[in-house]
Amino acid sequence: MSTAISKTVSYLAGGDTTPDWRYSNLLKQYAATQGNLHQLSWRNALLVTLQYPAATHIKSKDSWTRSGAVAQSDEHRIWIWEPIYDTACPRCGNTPAYHDKLHVDCEYHERGSPEHWRTDVVGTRPAPYFDVAQVAGGTLEADDIQSPLEGIGGKALKEICCEMASEDGYKLNTVDRRDLQDSLGQLRRSAMTLQPIIDIAAVGLPSEALSAVKYHLLADYAASGDSYGYTDEDETIAAWAAFAVGSCIGYDESHFSPKATFPVPLGGTPQSVEESLQAISETTDSYVKRLQQHAQRRKRNIL
Ligand SMILES: [Zn+2]
Repeated sequence: MSTAISKTVSYLAGGDTTPDWRYSNLLKQYAATQGNLHQLSWRNALLVTLQYPAATHIKSKDSWTRSGAVAQSDEHRIWIWEPIYDTACPRCGNTPAYHDKLHVDCEYHERGSPEHWRTDVVGTRPAPYFDVAQVAGGTLEADDIQSPLEGIGGKALKEICCEMASEDGYKLNTVDRRDLQDSLGQLRRSAMTLQPIIDIAAVGLPSEALSAVKYHLLADYAASGDSYGYTDEDETIAAWAAFAVGSCIGYDESHFSPKATFPVPLGGTPQSVEESLQAISETTDSYVKRLQQHAQRRKRNIL
């Protein structure tokens, strides 16, 4: 599993030297998987992409068995890293017993009281998972079949992005595309108040909404830096995270404008690719969770 991940990361790090459609297809599949399974780490999302890219709802075999569903064939299980929970040293994160290993130089357990240590993730192990499409029978919960953003369309997504941007102190405008020199969005600051303003082009709702997600994320990057602005790398991460959020809603690439919002390659060194994948994974997860909260609030207000 580790070899498969590092081989894929090296491939993605090829940048301009990795030509062909396979490169961008792999990234699209990864981002779609990360959107559907937003709570997964980038490593596990990549493992699912490599083994079963159509996955939308995965659970361990034991979890499916508990709900009465049976995996159709063990041959097609999806192996991912599952966290192991145990008593963890507050200093080094290892179990009390692991301190006996020669290479562990933490001596905290000799002075501390391991019986009072908290339970935490102390490692990972490969575990077989199955997608909802690979199991039969049992009682499926709504969470087993629905997208976390079920029922959100382009209009709702754009309105929610507008609400979220305003919560963060940004203003979101829809403007004529000709005012944006062929781009689908821009980030600027009001000359008077210095309030960040996100302009997105009026090009059709799903594209507008995804552009709103991308520029909202860029506004966050700009606001967190020392000098207001964002880098090409930030734009790559924001674009792929917007793609992942779109996949979670059920948008395919036809909803992205190839020139202005379609995500660009990652490129760089294996380490920088890993950092980008991690940033895409974390950004997607937190954005989907926030969208979910807003969507639930809207639903409650309507009912
Ligand atoms: Zn320790």
